[in-house]
Amino acid sequence: MSIFKDIPVDVGVIYEGERIRKPDMYVELGGPKTDSKFELVKARKMDEIEDGKIQIIGPDLKDLEEGKSYPFGIFVEVAGKEIEEDLEGVIERRIHEYCNYIEGFMHLNQRYDIWCRLSKKSFQKGLNSFILIGKVLQRLFKSELPIIEKIQITFITNPDKVKEMEKKAREIYEKRDARARKLKDEEVDCFYGCTLCQSFAPTHVCVITPQRYANCGAISWFDGRAAARIDPKGPLFKIEVGEILDEFRGEFSGANEAVKKKSLGEIERVWLYTAFGYPHTSCGCFEAIAFYIPEVDGIGIVHRDFKGATINGLPFSTMADSTAGGRQVDGFHGISIEYMRSPKFLQADGGWSRIVWMPTEVKERVKDFIPKDIIDKIATENDVKTIDDLKGFLESKNHPVIQRWKKMEEAKAEEIEVKAKTEEAPTAIIEAPSASAALGGFKVILKDATIIAKKIIIRKEK
Ligand code: SF4
Repeated sequence: MSIFKDIPVDVGVIYEGERIRKPDMYVELGGPKTDSKFELVKARKMDEIEDGKIQIIGPDLKDLEEGKSYPFGIFVEVAGKEIEEDLEGVIERRIHEYCNYIEGFMHLNQRYDIWCRLSKKSFQKGLNSFILIGKVLQRLFKSELPIIEKIQITFITNPDKVKEMEKKAREIYEKRDARARKLKDEEVDCFYGCTLCQSFAPTHVCVITPQRYANCGAISWFDGRAAARIDPKGPLFKIEVGEILDEFRGEFSGANEAVKKKSLGEIERVWLYTAFGYPHTSCGCFEAIAFYIPEVDGIGIVHRDFKGATINGLPFSTMADSTAGGRQVDGFHGISIEYMRSPKFLQADGGWSRIVWMPTEVKERVKDFIPKDIIDKIATENDVKTIDDLKGFLESKNHPVIQRWKKMEEAKAEEIEVKAKTEEAPTAIIEAPSASAALGGFKVILKDATIIAKKIIIRKEK
């Protein structure tokens, strides 16, 4: 029984997190099998839109073939006295939440990457038109965000139109992101947090700073600020920066406290600018993954749209499964594309100097933000296919990560040498107070050494 009498399926928070597997799916809208998809919210003047209007460009749900995937766009226009352009990103992110309230309708990801599925069961119950989905969205938007006075929604399934509108939407996303780039983390006294993804990743808490965009790539610090203002009880909230505990790794007492509270004690610390130690938690809708490649002591990046295996032999989906869920996984880190454009990008790990592999497509998207002396030293799927190839490539390009190999080799050599000497010397006589040992005619002075001995014999010299 639906809370809305004219809607044939139930609607409510309990359906958030509902997954629709392939065998149960009636149709798929957007997703990895389609080239074009988007969702966009635009703020309009009061007289520019018609409240309650729902349009469909292309075939409606009932005219789509069962089991198939289709290009898809959701275009929402809103108006109200307090509605301004700054709020577009925040309202847009709510499409994800409200779509997931609908029984048998699943919405994943954001912006140019949406992935929706309608279940066979809900289709059979009568959810067979976008008009019904539009009605639910309009009611939820207006009741949850009362500043929306008028709302008009257009669903697009015509492939050419989706493509055309996606292009425009991407330009708008870029404009929003560029605005947020002007601010630095050091210039603000508060960050923003988001728990919208907890329906899928219960311990996930995004900490959004000016220079660390949300994992989904859809919420900037400005969006966080706007959302906390218009909906103080909503999923976005203010975080006081507090004490700076580690400027380089990005550890702040306020962020630690907020994450601990919102993850119900599961996560206690977060380092914002690294993929190691206590990295930012990863939900499930991150745009890309930064993953450690131990064989070269470097970091690879793969974005969601990359098809096929990455340099470590695993596709995005496999790595996403072991990264997601709101966990902190050492060396596997869900990130947004925009974060790659930040000067704080994995700063504690070496930033771009540590990146050794990434797909051409994502490299192209962020190329203006990769230091000029590094860009050609980062391999792509077109340069190398195996880890051995990658090693050769990095050597041939004199990638900065090679300096780390040299240091590691030196450290290893020292370790072997010390071990060998220790094994050669069954008895070491320590001459106090000079802390030196006599070994077969040589005098070895140990500095800053940790000595583990089964037995120490201190003998008085005659
Ligand atoms: S990724 Fe983060 S900011 Fe984006 S919706 Fe999820 S919790 Fe919110």
